[in-house]
Parts: sequence; C-alpha cells; structure tokens
Amino acid sequence: MPEVFDFNPDQEKEPSIIIKKSTEAPESVRQNPFYNKDIWGRANSPDDIYLPDSDQAISFAIAAHEIGHLVKADQGAEAGLDDFEATYQEEQRAWEKGWQYLKKYLPEYCQESPGAAAEIHEAYEKIRDLMMQATKLSQDMYLEKGSLDTLSPEEIQTITKQQREKFSTTEKGQEVEAIFEQIKNQKIGQKPNWDQLVEIVTQAVKEIIADNQKHEE
Ligand SMILES: [Zn+2]
Repeated sequence: MPEVFDFNPDQEKEPSIIIKKSTEAPESVRQNPFYNKDIWGRANSPDDIYLPDSDQAISFAIAAHEIGHLVKADQGAEAGLDDFEATYQEEQRAWEKGWQYLKKYLPEYCQESPGAAAEIHEAYEKIRDLMMQATKLSQDMYLEKGSLDTLSPEEIQTITKQQREKFSTTEKGQEVEAIFEQIKNQKIGQKPNWDQLVEIVTQAVKEIIADNQKHEE
C-alpha cells in the first residue's frame, strides 16, 4: 500500500518476529548431517528464528546464542564459509551479546521451579564452551579467505553442502558429533514451556531491534 494511505505508520513499522521450532526447519536444513533437532537453532533475521523445543536448559541456552546474532553492536567482518576467523568471532560475539538480553528473563522462565535458574545458567556456560570447541574443530571445513567472492548464492550453497558432507566423514567431523552429544546431555530433565519461551525471546528481540535502531542513528 502506498505510504500516503497508511493510517498508522508506527504500527506498520513494528517488525514481525517469528519463532518456530527446530523441527519445522526447512528440508535443506534437516538434511544437513550436523542437524540435530534437540540443539539446532538459527536467527537469520527477526522473522526467521528457529529454536529447539528440547530441554528447558538447552532451549534457553540456544535461544540466548541465536538472538545474539541479531545484535548489531560490535559486529565484525561477515562470517562465511571462506572466513573461519570472522565466523569464530561472530559465534563468540553471539554468545556474549544474546545472553545480555535474555538473562533477565531467567527468573520468569523458571517460575515453576526456581531452583532451575542456577542450573540453566550453568548449562548455558557449558553449552557455550562446547559449541565454541565444536566451532574450532570445524576449521578444516572452511575455505581460503575470499575464495567465494565471485560465486552466486546457489554456487555457494552447493559448495557449503559438499564441504559439510566431506567434513562429516572425517575424524574431526566425528569429534564434532561427539561434542553435540555432550551438549544434548546438558539437560536438566524438564521440558521448556514453549509458549513462554517464545514470549520472552520475542521481548528480548524487540529490545535488540530497538537498540539496533539507536545504534544506526
Ligand atoms: Zn551461531
């Protein structure tokens, strides 16, 4: 609709935040040999967020990480298959930034079992360290810096898939799998309240969007 017909421009500007379960991930993601519904998540943009509906601690930790990718502050070089260093930095940044936004919702998230808050915080730290370890191990999968510069998104997708499949059969690929198993073990044995998780993550993402706007000004 042309802007002149827009009666409520402010409402129009409200960004949509869409959070789905990891099990609803696109087919191409679910075919990834490293895809695992219990620990997989992503946040490409506020309206493209996926989180695992697995265990109260794991879901919270992954949420804290994924929304960190949406924070614009201190963003470095663009992460990608041809820049391991930038990818590693971005992963670390996301763990730090996202937690800053989500941690205050922890008491609310654990209302029914207040003792769980400390356990979830501890699990978050373990999961973060294990994920960073897995990221480091995956370095062999990455290509020389800038080698994808002239390729189309489709070509990059094909190469990424090939690299990932090749890596999954190597010894280090197996080690990554073992780390993912360890991450799956960081559970506190309680299912997350999915609706509540969506609610607090939505609140946190709204704050991130507002801060990003301030950051751009
Ligand atoms: Zn990440």
